[in-house]
Amino acid sequence: MTSLSCYRKLDAQNRIELPAEYCQVLQYEQGQTLIVHLRKAGIYLESPLVSCQICGSSLDIQQVYDMTLCSDCISRIVKFTKQKKKSSR
Ligand SMILES: [Zn+2]
Repeated sequence: MTSLSCYRKLDAQNRIELPAEYCQVLQYEQGQTLIVHLRKAGIYLESPLVSCQICGSSLDIQQVYDMTLCSDCISRIVKFTKQKKKSSR
């Protein structure tokens, strides 16, 4: 997908209107919940439970704090953390 950019003004309640073509490309629908991430570079919107932020898989997706991860990556992180704890003893 090509990267798109546009300018939008915040309204009096700090809201912006998302461009209809962006919503169409990303398959955002009216009433859909989006995750709003605050990053150093700005605000990033994401559909919840779409794909793993580490490997990109869309199978068995879970929300862990503010991250969307697949069960395989969660297992790898847990295994890695346990190994780190054992090696630090
Ligand atoms: Zn993953």
